[in-house]
Amino acid sequence: MRYVSTRGQAPALSFEEVVLTGLANDGGLYVPESLPHFSAEALADMAGLSYAEIAFRVMQPFVNGEIDDDTFHGLVTDAYATFNHDAVLPLKQLDANHFLLEQFHGPTLAFKDVALQLLGRLLDHFLKKRNERAVIMGATSGDTGSAAIEGCRHCDNLDIFILHPHNRVSEVQRRQMTTVVANNVFNVAIEGNFDDAQAMVKQSFANQDFLNGSRLVAVNSINWARIMAQIVYYVAAGVALGAPHREVSFSVPSANFGNVFAGYMAHRMGLPVKQFIIATNANDILHRTLTANDFSKRELAATLAPSMDIVVSSNFERLLFDAYERDGDAVAALLERFQTEPTALADAPLAKLRAKFSSFSVDDATILEVIREAHHRTGEILDPHTATGYRAAERARADQSTPMVTLATAHPAKFAEAVVKAGFQGVPLPTHMDDLLDREERYSVLPATLEAVQQFVVDNRR
Ligand SMILES: *Cc1c(COP(=O)(O)O)cnc(C)c1O
Repeated sequence: MRYVSTRGQAPALSFEEVVLTGLANDGGLYVPESLPHFSAEALADMAGLSYAEIAFRVMQPFVNGEIDDDTFHGLVTDAYATFNHDAVLPLKQLDANHFLLEQFHGPTLAFKDVALQLLGRLLDHFLKKRNERAVIMGATSGDTGSAAIEGCRHCDNLDIFILHPHNRVSEVQRRQMTTVVANNVFNVAIEGNFDDAQAMVKQSFANQDFLNGSRLVAVNSINWARIMAQIVYYVAAGVALGAPHREVSFSVPSANFGNVFAGYMAHRMGLPVKQFIIATNANDILHRTLTANDFSKRELAATLAPSMDIVVSSNFERLLFDAYERDGDAVAALLERFQTEPTALADAPLAKLRAKFSSFSVDDATILEVIREAHHRTGEILDPHTATGYRAAERARADQSTPMVTLATAHPAKFAEAVVKAGFQGVPLPTHMDDLLDREERYSVLPATLEAVQQFVVDNRR
């Protein structure tokens, strides 16, 4: 299996190359040239298997023999053994036909662990094989940084530098990064905002000369391996609820569109899915595009669901590539226009999207209302991201007879501000991290200049 760019100009890559490469050199994102297909029989055979076993079966075709089966099986098993629940991602029933898929039992209590626990292991495997070392640089305003650090802390051939805006991430989120003591983990607090940190990472990727030939690796959701790892839980949840004999629907709290896009891939690979609901907070570009064909940027709003605060949904490009019948030139033209002016999708691709996707946008006041209401009706305290999905599932649902799965993307203890604002006393951290607020922190504060940051990387990488 080869991987091609959504903008049609970059060279096709192998699986190994695509894991080690971020953005394609034509500015596009890599996607598989063709998708594996699971027959009804193959899906039925997965019923009752462990999460790790389903993960191996779903991802093995993408790996394309570039890692031998035993080794890949071992990587997958190790990755999901870090989760604190025997089901890895348990399904919980909310009412007769509405379920929560709890994605927050990993080391950092949010769904990004599902992909990053595997990605760290894949990177380390390929780098060892090539006898190379690499540097990871990322900027975070929240969940991605800690999940990347947890995913890479045991990787011998990787050094990881995560930039966060000084004094501008929540204490729990900061501590999840800065209390990880490992000699390949470097936390940098930038005296600036998230955009400053992000800009420095982007500039470092654009010109890597400062690293003198070492490779810089991206772990944000433009990395195909992250999408691949997320396909698994759609299949696992679908099969648990009766696929292939029954359709399932999903409601997905969305930002960069990596999570729900993985669901779409599962559907294209044979999982019968009735409807995908894209839930957004007030940053509603996806909702505006789907409902009003308004594909344009708006100013960033800071909401109670901060991990969904985005202006642009980077992975939406992967869906556009599909909707535009894999016409890379058309996708490139659309996205170039989008950079500078409000745009709209052509009729045919928009109709194609609307056939499978619905959307719903939830503002902050409603998030609080939903947290209270869901607790009253089910006893569950939802985190603010999951609350958007819960409301969207109820309001945008096409039919009641198809099981609805709302993805619970974070543990409520991680986003105490919203939970407290909703009138609760807060939620305790799970026992394995109840000493988080007492652990020693380690991070460096640097001025918001590219020189300072790059010098820090050069001085500290091993
Ligand atoms: C990252 C994140 C999201 C958004 O996921 P995308 O793949 O970017 O759409 C939603 N909820 C939480 C808690 C997250 O960390």
